[in-house]
Amino acid sequence: MQKIYLSPPHLTGEEGKYFEEVLASGWIAPMGTFIDEFENQISQKIGAKHTLATNSGTSALHLALCCADIRAGDYVLVSSFSFVASANPILYQNAIPIFVDSDEKSWNICPISLEKALINCQQKQIFPKALVLTHLYGQAADMDAVMKIVEKYNLILIEDAAESLGCTWDNQFVGTFGKYGFFSFNGNKIITTSAGGMLVLPNENQRKKALFLATQAKDDAPHYQHSEIGYNYRMSNVLAAMGVAQMKFLDKKIQKKKEIFNFYQQNLSKNIVFMPELEKSKGNRWLTCVLFQNFEQREKIRQVLNQHNIESRPLWKPLHLQPLFSKNLYFGENISEKLFEKGLCLPSGTQINYHELEIIIQLINQNC
Ligand SMILES: *Cc1c(COP(=O)(O)O)cnc(C)c1O
Repeated sequence: MQKIYLSPPHLTGEEGKYFEEVLASGWIAPMGTFIDEFENQISQKIGAKHTLATNSGTSALHLALCCADIRAGDYVLVSSFSFVASANPILYQNAIPIFVDSDEKSWNICPISLEKALINCQQKQIFPKALVLTHLYGQAADMDAVMKIVEKYNLILIEDAAESLGCTWDNQFVGTFGKYGFFSFNGNKIITTSAGGMLVLPNENQRKKALFLATQAKDDAPHYQHSEIGYNYRMSNVLAAMGVAQMKFLDKKIQKKKEIFNFYQQNLSKNIVFMPELEKSKGNRWLTCVLFQNFEQREKIRQVLNQHNIESRPLWKPLHLQPLFSKNLYFGENISEKLFEKGLCLPSGTQINYHELEIIIQLINQNC
């Protein structure tokens, strides 16, 4: 049997047409009309005014931190139950991440633990400047509760919506709640440019600042003149063309992801727990994520699938448990630890067919 991957890139057949257009124009880099078009498409889709295409989600987050003036020694709160890319750019700034646990209702950041973290920090005379909040696996965090805390404690909110393009909370797209937000178009994400990201910004001045930093911070002079540290973070026009092609299929892909989730839910054994979704969240079901009874059962299932050439992955290992962050503060009730122990992401690629899903379901049901 051909290998079934977790979430492989799904080309739509339209990409070639756009590539030809790029080649014909000669503008393969550094600029070109597809970058503008891709930014406009994302802006229109999510109802944002200011967006900047970048070469990855990670670089978009780094730019957001720079624009938010996060500096050496500043404290930044982060969702612990996330990919390491949510926290690495904080280290690039020599700032200090503080990790916050998830809740059981959403698997996303727990507003109670978040407020506890802030109160405890105040007692220690630590005043976090910002919050990097992940919308996990395509589903929104509790934005009503989070926004109240963000306002009360005057935090700069940066939404890590890398996995959650097209997801809404109370009919507003995620990525537009914070001062900044970003998406990823890495190969495994719901739409892909092979590698890429998109930063959402609050105004044109901030967009100019981010563009300046993303293109080596060149001063306004005829020669190469630099007064600030800069980066090479811009998306190329060729990859933007791919993004434009992929965007046409976003809604279809979300539809397919939901069908995959529903099929698993209807057919998997009843003692398997699915990732819950809060009532106001309308997610994209990027990955179907489930919990087994315990670690042993999860590992057994993962290995059985692997023996049949089927890729599955444990849920994110919480960042506060990573050796990289062993000295950092963490606030929570060890919810994300338990999710990590028992949880598995199942194959959820939009090209998967029902026959393949049935094989996966059968293997799981037979073994738990
Ligand atoms: C993929 C991902 C990122 C990083 O995006 P890249 O484009 O791979 O740099 C950041 N955060 C989360 C939660 C992700 O899943």
